[in-house]
Amino acid sequence: MSEQQIKKSDDIAQKLLTRIVRGALKPCEKLRQDLIAREFGVSQVTVREALLNLASKGLAVAVPRRGMCVAPMDQNAIQELRVMRRALEPVALLHSVPNLTAQQFAQIEQVHEDCDSARTAEDWEDANQRFHMAVIAACNMPRMIDEIRNLQVLYTWHFNNLYTAKWRPRADPDHAAILAAIKDRDAAKAHSVMQRHLTRLA
Ligand SMILES: [Zn+2]
Repeated sequence: MSEQQIKKSDDIAQKLLTRIVRGALKPCEKLRQDLIAREFGVSQVTVREALLNLASKGLAVAVPRRGMCVAPMDQNAIQELRVMRRALEPVALLHSVPNLTAQQFAQIEQVHEDCDSARTAEDWEDANQRFHMAVIAACNMPRMIDEIRNLQVLYTWHFNNLYTAKWRPRADPDHAAILAAIKDRDAAKAHSVMQRHLTRLA
């Protein structure tokens, strides 16, 4: 595949990922390569690559005689994902806090505002994930960051499937406390608030 095809397949994977996480594509729904190829005006090889990308993230599976489908919901996954996030995110934050630049800090403040002022579940979800990624941005552990990003996607996907229509606009006191700890460069405090925050996740 050319570099352009790879970029195209990454874009398609990202668009399909959003549809899966937001429920426009349901668990176990068939992912029709021909239709996806037509919609995006690309070859089936490019689509295939996008679907393999989703499979590597745990969002799609190859089903015998059906082809690629959205992965099924796993009722136990949300608990597992919560445990994994709680194991990784506070540690990433601990390493990130001492290295955050003024620019990164400004970005965290902005995303925190976006999060608190979100008026729809989708806006909140987007801002919330950006907040959780922004605070760990300076941990200097790219593999950890990739892993955490994927855990958050899987977590949000399961959460949306299992707990729809529960979201209400609200300010998040944990996020405010994390922001305050970061401002004080108190990595240990930020770590402990993040741990508590992720323990409270539904
Ligand atoms: Zn949060």
